[in-house]
Amino acid sequence: MFGRSRRNLARWFTLSMGSILVIFAGVVYYVEVADALLALDRLLYQQTKVMAASVNYERRNGQWQVELDNVPLLGNNPQPLDSGLAYGRWYDAKGQLVQFFGTLPPEKLTVTDGFQTIKTANGSARWLRQVTLPVYEKSVLIGYLQVATSLTSTQEALSELRLVLTLLVPVTLGVISLTGWFLGGLAMQPIRHAYEQLHRFTADASHELRTPLAAILSNAQVGLLSDDRSQQRLRLDKIVNVAKSMNSLVSNLLFLARNDGSLSPESLRKINLTLLLQELAENYATQAATKNLNFVSNLPTESLEVKADPELLRLAVMNLLSNACKYTLEGGEVQLRLFTRSHLAIIQVSDTGMGIAATDLPHIFERFYRVNRDRSRTTGGFGLGLAIAEQIVKAHGGGIDVTSVVGQGSTFQIELPLQ
Ligand code: ADP
Repeated sequence: MFGRSRRNLARWFTLSMGSILVIFAGVVYYVEVADALLALDRLLYQQTKVMAASVNYERRNGQWQVELDNVPLLGNNPQPLDSGLAYGRWYDAKGQLVQFFGTLPPEKLTVTDGFQTIKTANGSARWLRQVTLPVYEKSVLIGYLQVATSLTSTQEALSELRLVLTLLVPVTLGVISLTGWFLGGLAMQPIRHAYEQLHRFTADASHELRTPLAAILSNAQVGLLSDDRSQQRLRLDKIVNVAKSMNSLVSNLLFLARNDGSLSPESLRKINLTLLLQELAENYATQAATKNLNFVSNLPTESLEVKADPELLRLAVMNLLSNACKYTLEGGEVQLRLFTRSHLAIIQVSDTGMGIAATDLPHIFERFYRVNRDRSRTTGGFGLGLAIAEQIVKAHGGGIDVTSVVGQGSTFQIELPLQ
């Protein structure tokens, strides 16, 4: 599935970037052709104007006559012109050929004024750029000058450009498709990760639900088979307990699903963190005492304000405190601390309990992760408490971290941005 999506991404990337590249190459070629032709036309026009300027129009034997002797290339007495012109022709005002150099022209002027690209028919065919310029003397049309130059060098330059483009475009397309493949892989990574997480989560959730369901079923069956009312009551009690635990699991799962992502600004308000932790400390002092634990709270006297959803934040700290009490043996100590560091409020929950092995630490905040599945089951945990705490803290723009040494204890730390 991921391989196909990656291929599709790479294909579409290559297709879209490739189309842009081909269009771009086409535009570059078109602009080059237009530029080369414009430069050639300018040069041709300049040369034609130089020739036209040498045409004399004078009165001889009482008649106006066109004198072409001084016209470069055309006349008998021409001025030098470094032209490279293919041919030059002079037609009179009626379009009749008068004089020419180069290939034999038609007797009559066949084309209109301006520039044309033409192909010579005689000998080996070659392309020429031709200009036909009407020449006036005091607003009187005295004739037409037609001049042409070869397009060979321009064509050679353009064919070089074509070659470069035809080599460059496929190479660039190859690079683009490789980049597309690489980017496709990068884009698939978070999706693959999310998919795997969801897959694991669903598998874990079904597994967790299957165990209590099996317990409910077996208790119900045993209860139905027995005629002893006290036995039936015992089974019903067990069913109620298991159902309660399932209820808490489902609530936790729903909580995780509903509160995924950041919190809406409406649910956040300025709260006094010191006060919130004082209340929790009072509750947990009593709870810890019943388990023969020493509960120490180290809270500042002044109020520390953070922007938070108080219920959610309370739940996150409660999960840490419950764990600290759960995983610390009798006679141990649990500490709740609050202090500030630069612009952060820091909540620390430490215990002198069993600690967490270094290999487990990176997974401790994953959903359904329990260091010792059997031991945790007896304490009633599903491995969701820390995942919920982390989700809440992250939704508040904070961070949660843990340091632990097996046999010595653990310290969980929540950092929240101060108001
Ligand atoms: P659970 O409901 O099982 O306690 P949590 O997500 O709260 O789930 O914790 C995940 C696991 O991390 C626990 O199963 C436990 O093994 C370990 N753990 C959490 N807090 C502590 C702690 N203070 N001391 C030792 N182990 C802990």
